[in-house]
Amino acid sequence: MPSAGSGEWPYCGLDIPALRNGGWRPVPFSELVLKVHGRCNLACDYCYVFESADQTWRARPAAMPPEVVAATAFRLGEYIRSHDLSQVTVILHGGEPLLAGEAALAATISQFRASVPPSCEVEVSTQTNGVLLTDNMLAMLDEHDVGVSVSLDGDQAGHDRHRIRANGRGSHAEVMRGLNRLASSHRRLYRGLLCTVDLDNDPIRTYEALLETRPPRIDFLLPHGTWTAPPPRRPVEGGGTPYAEWLIAVFDRWYHAPRRETGVRLFEEILNLLLGGQSRSEGVGLSPVAMLVVDTDGTLQQVDTLKTSYAGAPETGLTVFDHRFDDAMWHPGVVARQIGLAALAPMCRTCAVRDICGGGLYAHRYREGHGYLNPSVYCPDLLKLITHIGRTVQHDLALAQPAQSR
Ligand code: SF4
Repeated sequence: MPSAGSGEWPYCGLDIPALRNGGWRPVPFSELVLKVHGRCNLACDYCYVFESADQTWRARPAAMPPEVVAATAFRLGEYIRSHDLSQVTVILHGGEPLLAGEAALAATISQFRASVPPSCEVEVSTQTNGVLLTDNMLAMLDEHDVGVSVSLDGDQAGHDRHRIRANGRGSHAEVMRGLNRLASSHRRLYRGLLCTVDLDNDPIRTYEALLETRPPRIDFLLPHGTWTAPPPRRPVEGGGTPYAEWLIAVFDRWYHAPRRETGVRLFEEILNLLLGGQSRSEGVGLSPVAMLVVDTDGTLQQVDTLKTSYAGAPETGLTVFDHRFDDAMWHPGVVARQIGLAALAPMCRTCAVRDICGGGLYAHRYREGHGYLNPSVYCPDLLKLITHIGRTVQHDLALAQPAQSR
């Protein structure tokens, strides 16, 4: 019996030999996501790792064993040398990566730094729920120069609506303790906050609560979902763009602030694209995504947000023990996220904001039976948000022009 997804785009319909014959070549991976620990000390109800269609975490080791760390570090060094890369990013991820413990994390980071040739700069960072940011953990992360991003959904009420312990208790107080340590004593490591949008949370109150520790950047994430398993209140009967309205309220508050309070990745990416730049995030734009994930068992995977599509969606069938990273570069799912315009649905290709939106996050395009060749499940929201930001910029550019050239 064919596996789920095998009869759908890109596994069916993406002509990779034609791409190759036409001279297209993949962009080398520059971002390695390491699932150093596959379990979590929280039980957030929207988590795509534990609460989605894909439940493969159950069969994998909780922590990444030393032999997987060693094999992955070797593969990374091998890959950097063969592609002569001058810069890579290694992201310690989970589950909750800090559950691996200080000693195992320190050994992992050292092994990765040692595997990389001196000609290549390695940036190491971690994405954590913040609960385990103790003084000892932060001292270790500081010693190893690891950037830290923390998930925080706003004020206590907003955050504790979803980010809870298994017993239902909210995690906001614990997260803030760790976050305050990071933002004060180890501020140089502080990379920013990740906030998942919840329409039941007030956008301005959420944004202002996030500003409390003066984060260098905030990343607003749309809740993961697909056309088959839609996110909350999307699509809306008879139209409606509730996510655009929520984000526009934050954009206006952020953009019109008398001084720059923080960076907001989604808005900055859209502004950058509107002004003719390239996107550096996979949420918008058409730039190739050059990320590879290694799970705790050593399997090589595509981006793990695909877990919301169907069981096994991120798998490549490759492992660090038997394959080089090069073997993943021509995987249809990897290629699909690198070919820009050619990966867009017909409706997106003729869309007025096509080059800015880029069809939205790849994971949000999935529809059972069709695969990923669809507009984003957030299409109307993306169109409205981008149009609003575009009009705001146009207005300001017009005001900035000398009177005679208007
Ligand atoms: S706004 Fe909709 S149609 Fe336009 S590119 Fe984005 S997802 Fe596609």
